[in-house]
Amino acid sequence: MRATVIYGAGDVRVENVPDPALKEPTDAVVRVLRSCICGSDLWPYKSKPASDAGERIGHEFLGVVEEVGSEVSGLKSGDVVVAPFVWADNTCDFCSEGLHTSCRHGGFWGQEGVDGAQGEAVRVPQAQGTLVKLPVGEDSELLPSLLTLADVFPTGHHCAVTAGVNPRTTVTVIGDGAVGLSAVLAARQLGAERIVLMGRHTERTELGREFGATDVVAERGEEGIAKVRDLTGGDGTHTVLECVGTKQALEMALGVARDGGVVSRVGVPQYEEGPVGPDMFLRNITLTGGVAPARAYIEELLPDVLDGKIEPGRVFDRTISLDEVPDGYRAMADREALKVLIKP
Ligand SMILES: [Zn+2]
Repeated sequence: MRATVIYGAGDVRVENVPDPALKEPTDAVVRVLRSCICGSDLWPYKSKPASDAGERIGHEFLGVVEEVGSEVSGLKSGDVVVAPFVWADNTCDFCSEGLHTSCRHGGFWGQEGVDGAQGEAVRVPQAQGTLVKLPVGEDSELLPSLLTLADVFPTGHHCAVTAGVNPRTTVTVIGDGAVGLSAVLAARQLGAERIVLMGRHTERTELGREFGATDVVAERGEEGIAKVRDLTGGDGTHTVLECVGTKQALEMALGVARDGGVVSRVGVPQYEEGPVGPDMFLRNITLTGGVAPARAYIEELLPDVLDGKIEPGRVFDRTISLDEVPDGYRAMADREALKVLIKP
């Protein structure tokens, strides 16, 4: 089959790789209907050291079950399913606590002999725990929004949940990428009425407004902090959803947080040290967030997507074939595309 392999920064190729087959009785093989490129795929795309041995890449997909192992129940050939960006057994103590990203028998796509998602098919370990069956056909118009359940929408939701967003909290979202926009949508769904979106790309912040942002602040740094404080009587917001991952974004997040407030981060941190000293302490700011256990949220978020009540799939602004994946990476890295959908 064909699949995406990354060899280093700027070097993504689509190549022939071995067809997936069942290895363990807990596996399934899924033919990919839709995959996509994640903002976090851009970090290796920008910085991965060159190597002769490429690595499979991609961690978001939905598809059709082709084959299941003897220990997999509840799934059969022909089922349409979505997979979260971490595979997990859904039964261990961490999974029972809703922390599937720490599953004792789980792992990441594209690592240790597991297929990446940007390909024609995937061997799914722990299939019964990992895959969520979707009551739709292969040609459903809902596929883009359903695909966001693999990562981007639950990640925005996790950010809002861990921040404690509710109808009484004001919210700042930092970042107008697909996760930031998803966080706006999630915050609105959790009842927030005042949502300030910090972002500079007008076509993205416009979608943010349609998702529920009430104010947009294009300025960054000290200027951006001053603007958000102006909008909130000088105090900042109760909750801040940091969806970028840079140190500058974290500094802005702390700057726009109201005393006693919460900063939640879901952008993968690109720093080792941050401003967590006396200022944060004296203002009683809580820092939370982390990698989103998407699997824990899929069933909860699914009904509103199936009803068409929310359309998180609107973050996709380009659809490409598998062979066009290298150009899809380039388009996202150049900020020509917000989020790229792959139709193998
Ligand atoms: Zn587990």
